[in-house]
Amino acid sequence: MTIHFGFERTKLFIGGQWQDGAKGETIDVEDPSTGERIGRIARGTAADVDAAVSAAEAALAGDWGRKTATERGRILARLGTLVEANAERLAELESRDVGKPLDQARNDAKALARYFEFYGASADKVTGETIPYQAGTTVMTLREPHGVTAHIIPWNYPMQILGRSVGAALAMGNACVLKPAEDASLSALAIAELSLEAGLPAGALNIVTGYGHDVGSALSGHARVHHVSFTGSVGTGQRIQEAASANVVPVTLELGGKSPHIVFDDCDLEAALTTLVGACIQAAGQTCSAASRVLVQRGIYDEVKRRMAEIYSGLVAGPARDCHALGPLVSARQKTLVTAFIEEGRRDLAIAAEGTIAEGAPSGGHYVAPILFADVAPDHRLAREEIFGPVQVLIPFEDEAEAVRIANGTEYGLVAGVWTENGARQMRIARALHCGQVFINNYGAGGGVELPFGGVGKSGHGREKGFEALYGFSRLKTVSIKHG
Ligand code: NAD
Repeated sequence: MTIHFGFERTKLFIGGQWQDGAKGETIDVEDPSTGERIGRIARGTAADVDAAVSAAEAALAGDWGRKTATERGRILARLGTLVEANAERLAELESRDVGKPLDQARNDAKALARYFEFYGASADKVTGETIPYQAGTTVMTLREPHGVTAHIIPWNYPMQILGRSVGAALAMGNACVLKPAEDASLSALAIAELSLEAGLPAGALNIVTGYGHDVGSALSGHARVHHVSFTGSVGTGQRIQEAASANVVPVTLELGGKSPHIVFDDCDLEAALTTLVGACIQAAGQTCSAASRVLVQRGIYDEVKRRMAEIYSGLVAGPARDCHALGPLVSARQKTLVTAFIEEGRRDLAIAAEGTIAEGAPSGGHYVAPILFADVAPDHRLAREEIFGPVQVLIPFEDEAEAVRIANGTEYGLVAGVWTENGARQMRIARALHCGQVFINNYGAGGGVELPFGGVGKSGHGREKGFEALYGFSRLKTVSIKHG
């Protein structure tokens, strides 16, 4: 079978077939590195969502619904192997589609393969339990799929987020309807082809491309969808939760973040600083877990500022294919949003250092030079709001109590990093932080398919990734048998 890795993908993937959308309209695909139109995807409609949900129902009632957990696991494992074999082409496709440097897109393809491998191996490891109850009665719990699950994902890590969400849902026997972001649908469509080759039955995975306000909203409020998994912005998450509440179905929300890193004077500074900068500028800062706030203990503040400024001065944003430290932002809209934050910072704040844009970078590309602001007050907008661009702020603190207060001082609570060699302090702070994941002396948010991931507060609720996701993508049934 020849897999199509092209940019012209004007059909929807429904019931294992490539179909025209009900209205036959399309959306242009742009290369963010040049601003040029390189292809088109289908602009789906509510009618297409309806057809995809029907195809998912048919799969559950048919071949897919009859598969044992072990059989589902084998199909996912085969899909993982196929992704691995096609990783380079998937990475090239993604890199052109979202402007991600090729080396970073390669990591995403590897993670995608690993998600299918992990969930393939986990599919038949989820068990129920028996519960001691009345004499002559046996009570057991069964883990069952929800049924039709909706997956609405963003453009920043399309392959990884597809893998963690669809991989876990399929492992538990659900049938999925996926809506990729309108700016980043190509890799999902290529994965659909690979899924057929892996032997995934028709209708177990359906993909309806299109805009959020028509396809996304029709999917999240669809009366025959039984679970909605969403990754994206807070505002959209709120709309999706409201739409799903009409049908009283569970929703998993993976939203934004303003992840703090707390750097103490006893840490390995070399390791901390390199990791910290990388964790902010990865994907040009368009990462929900970006290390966007750096809290530094007063005694080492000047040194940290100087050393981070040195790193920043050498950072270059340029075309994705050239693998600079950063690529362009995904769209002109995203560049406008990020630039407004930077302009506000230039007005109000001290600039520690700025990177540059590569010489000869195409003028139509959406490039933003990375920037580091110093001495930022914790209540400044740039220290509280998610920017989703290559902007990092330095905030000084005196002691542990102040660091925790500042770290917990935003509406978000996704990930945090702590850099200290003091073991007791590591544990105290890990417990005191309001967030879903804490990294001590390392930072691998996003990586690590085995690690449960999700937020508190406006960063969302529910957990994806790891074994935990399998519980979220299933529901428990209690069976009580009176046998005397
Ligand atoms: P977004 O909310 O605009 O879009 C995300 C998805 O939702 C897209 O597929 C979009 O088409 C769809 N959508 C838009 N409006 C909709 C509606 N009314 N109903 C249903 N679907 C709709 O977010 P974005 O700008 O694409 O992504 C950036 C945001 O995502 C950031 O805030 C970031 O922090 C967050 N994010 C979070 C995680 C995480 O795991 N927590 C990961 C990546 C991105």
